[in-house]
Amino acid sequence: MSQFKGIASLAQSLRARETSAVELARQALIAAQTHADLNALITVDAAGALAAAERADVALATGDASPLSGIPFVHKDIFCTNGLRTTCASRMLENFVPPYDACVVEKLGAARAVTIGKSNMDEFAMGSSNENSHFGPVRNPWDRTRVPGGSSGGSAALVAAGVVPFATGTDTGGSIRQPAAFCGITGLKPTYGRVSRWGMIAFASSLDTASVLARSAADCALVLDAIAGHDARDATSVDRPLDDYMGALCKPLAGLRIGVAREYFGAGIDAGVGAVVQSALKEYEKLGAILVDISLPNAHLAIPAYYVIAPAEASSNLARFDGVRYGHRCAEPRSLEDLYTRTRAEGFGAEVKRRILVGTYALSAGYFDAYYLRAQRVRRLIANDFAAAFESVDLIAGPTTPTVAFKLGEKSADPLAMYAADVNTVAVNLAGLPAISVPTGLSEGLPVGLQLIAPAFAEARLLNAAHQLQQVTDWHNREPGARS
Ligand code: GLN
Repeated sequence: MSQFKGIASLAQSLRARETSAVELARQALIAAQTHADLNALITVDAAGALAAAERADVALATGDASPLSGIPFVHKDIFCTNGLRTTCASRMLENFVPPYDACVVEKLGAARAVTIGKSNMDEFAMGSSNENSHFGPVRNPWDRTRVPGGSSGGSAALVAAGVVPFATGTDTGGSIRQPAAFCGITGLKPTYGRVSRWGMIAFASSLDTASVLARSAADCALVLDAIAGHDARDATSVDRPLDDYMGALCKPLAGLRIGVAREYFGAGIDAGVGAVVQSALKEYEKLGAILVDISLPNAHLAIPAYYVIAPAEASSNLARFDGVRYGHRCAEPRSLEDLYTRTRAEGFGAEVKRRILVGTYALSAGYFDAYYLRAQRVRRLIANDFAAAFESVDLIAGPTTPTVAFKLGEKSADPLAMYAADVNTVAVNLAGLPAISVPTGLSEGLPVGLQLIAPAFAEARLLNAAHQLQQVTDWHNREPGARS
């Protein structure tokens, strides 16, 4: 399938008139159908895609095109799309049609990239396996009995299967990096504030980050360039010029100091995963990087702090779904209280309810100091650990996930086991830092991700390091099925 080619080479074919945006959109729509068993799309927008592709072809013909013009992609179904159903994989929003576009949607639309639909995800982005969707679980294209990771699992599965060369997603505690690792693709989570959250349905507002999934770091750089930047409609959006992400890709890595965090290789990390990541670190040494043994002493507190702060913010954000303003409403409410309780009981799935209960409890008078306030203090300790480490290293490396993709159903009855899958990703969100997951080998025939973490706003450094690895290895070009 031509989408395995990646954005840059598709853009070249478009400019050379070897193909057209309409042709690429058609191919992507057919590929989406061929891979319907992945259950990776909630809404397919064939008519919208073909109309957008025609406009992209006009732009390409008149020379009014960007590097993304005519490139098909999918949006995670958490980004509001004007006139196109946006469900957040919840029964609560099953029939919600937003009256406006999210900032990221506007920007990719202005670049004339072509959305073919909205991808499946965990309900309200709560999950690490994509089994929490009202629309059913997504399957991993490498092994359909396994999860693709969550919560941006639909986006990751579609890129990994070659349906589209890139997809949007969000990362609140690892939802880009973990599915990227499980599906053998590249996932970039930018610095908090680098990309606008406007029009992204809120889960945990101080952690949610609009992000990108693609095959390679170079493709992630192209998309970041299109979606990043200040937006006055998001009060946490940062007004700071963009770096030259593409320009930085080719910088040699000689002298780059990579911190190898002891804690990221600790108990619970599968031996096969650890070995693959160590071999990637050896590649970096060959490229001239210097490995430095470092410690992040509060790393073990990241999961407990995250699983207080994220549900606390979620419980507040999800209070808006009350059956009055928009979304699901129960039939024939007998009173206002009946309207609220039945609407929410019917509209939300089990994991979302669990988070609302935990979050409301942690914020309640009498428990606020013991849980929420303490978690915020731990958050500061975690951010301080990173700040101290970055005094002596340029990047921090470790496995993105403790294991390869697990089986569907393996952890769904045990929330704590599921939360533990996020052990190496959530600290990055608590500190607001950028990070990338790079496919770096196979263990048990399944993809393994290397996570690289950078100081705030050093996305160019991350993309450079990932790109250089991808110049000397080809794990990012492996297609599911080609396992050796
Ligand atoms: N797995 C984490 C959670 O369930 C992170 C989800 C995310 O990043 N959206 O909260």
